[in-house]
Amino acid sequence: MLGLMQDWPLLISKMLEHAEINHPRRELMGLLPEGGEFRYTYADMALRARKCAEALQSLDVKFGDCVATLCWNSHRHMEAWFGISGMGGVTHTVNPRLFAEQIAYIINHAEDKVLMYDITFHPLVEKLAPQLKSVRHYICMVGKEHLPESSLNVLSYEELISAEKGLYSWPEFDENTACGLCYTSGTTGNPKGVLYSHRSNFLHTLLVLGKDTLGIGSTTSILPVVPMFHANAWGIPFAACASGAKIAFNGPHHDPETLHKLIIDEDVNFTAAVPTVWLGMLDYLVKHDLDLGKLEAVTIGGAACPRFMIEAFQEKFGVRVNHAWGMTETSPLGSLGTENAAVADLSKEEKLDIQCKQGRTVFGVEMTIKDDDGNELPRDGETSGRLMVRGPWIAKEYFRGDGGNILDENGWFDTGDVACIDAHGYMQITDRAKDVIKSGGEWISSIDLENEAAAHPAVKEAAVIGIFHPKWNERPLLLVVLEDGASVSFDEMTQHLTGRIAKWWMPDAMEVIDEIPHTATGKISKKDLREQFKDYTLPTA
Ligand code: AMP
Repeated sequence: MLGLMQDWPLLISKMLEHAEINHPRRELMGLLPEGGEFRYTYADMALRARKCAEALQSLDVKFGDCVATLCWNSHRHMEAWFGISGMGGVTHTVNPRLFAEQIAYIINHAEDKVLMYDITFHPLVEKLAPQLKSVRHYICMVGKEHLPESSLNVLSYEELISAEKGLYSWPEFDENTACGLCYTSGTTGNPKGVLYSHRSNFLHTLLVLGKDTLGIGSTTSILPVVPMFHANAWGIPFAACASGAKIAFNGPHHDPETLHKLIIDEDVNFTAAVPTVWLGMLDYLVKHDLDLGKLEAVTIGGAACPRFMIEAFQEKFGVRVNHAWGMTETSPLGSLGTENAAVADLSKEEKLDIQCKQGRTVFGVEMTIKDDDGNELPRDGETSGRLMVRGPWIAKEYFRGDGGNILDENGWFDTGDVACIDAHGYMQITDRAKDVIKSGGEWISSIDLENEAAAHPAVKEAAVIGIFHPKWNERPLLLVVLEDGASVSFDEMTQHLTGRIAKWWMPDAMEVIDEIPHTATGKISKKDLREQFKDYTLPTA
């Protein structure tokens, strides 16, 4: 017997309609790539998103077509998201930090019909254009007066939408229709596309609103530093519409001074970004003796959040840190470390230990760890194995079938992460499967080592890679970037690490370097470091 409840397809446009009807005067503001700032409301945004859809139709964009965006976080990018997906197209968010060849590859792979881009990227677009086989129109996200001179026939976004009436009504179609596309770069081979559906993003949005996840509501004022070109900006723009939260868009600015000014001026009480962003911010705050105004919570994920960072936010600035784990393939939220009744009675130190873990599985996602033979491992907080996930916002295959079958026989997706899960359900990433250091048949977690090394006051950032060792196969090499004017010897570091890590995990050597390379998504690029140190000989070898 079927239930007798009403049904409508779970479409992205429903979120925008909700904001327009129920939060019409709630504000959105942003810093513009062409300079200056902009302020308007959800009612304005919804109108302009409809105009955007009309403009795309006039350019012959059809249901199912992919449209690329090469944009910072901005109100125009948000209009494009809703305009493209709302009409049944696919918003392909392109990460501008990828190599130019990779950008050309993914735009060709997606067969994008239109490329909408911020003026910052005009030189890049001009360079790429001869290689882009499917792109018929280039839209620069500025008014006509800011349109750059170009050999391409570049259209002005503002001019295009000002010609439209905004009377478009969002069509209804199957909720399983694709709505967004984001490529993720593996370690080998070409980037692979994760193709989100209206349904998966809608369900993910409902989750994101919950108290035990991002807890976004109508009184939230958000600074989503996490870029809209990476994993749906952790679902924040959708959740903001679905709840009427204010957004302050940082545009092309990622420096601590600008971010701090936005936090203060826009009464930001919630923000989210990868740890590297906060490294710079914490430095800046201490140097200038500043506070964080009304900021209540920061979600940190994308890479392991070091303990000192959690402590600094909470102890010095009274801002709660929620440590999150996710991937492009998981829409992206998989687990989150919000407050938990089950551990409420623990000491402050014990709670901090727990916050360093990557949190508990969010409702709607199932998580397990397995050994290499596919056997499930115990949830004892110690045994680590391959982290596997499944759920309605987890990818079941990559776009155009790349990489073949990605699920095991029980529908689990292998994340490529190595993790353990404790009795309370807290998951802790110990490594990427490919970064784990295999010493004498045992595994050393590079992430643990990095976190402990980064806790030394002289260290700004730390990375650990495995280096060939004739006896142990691999041993850890610690690479550190130091705070300005600070120094630390290998002996001092060894003393600092003693008692914090297992004895046999102690790095065999330490090198001070000027900079740790990062990937296009803000993670430490172990691939580059391994290349840089490929001829390194350990003193113990
Ligand atoms: P991406 O698809 O680019 O978002 O990368 C996903 C990967 O980032 C995951 O598979 C993890 O390896 C890593 N990651 C994400 N969040 C965390 C976290 N909180 N701690 C450690 N690694 C993380």
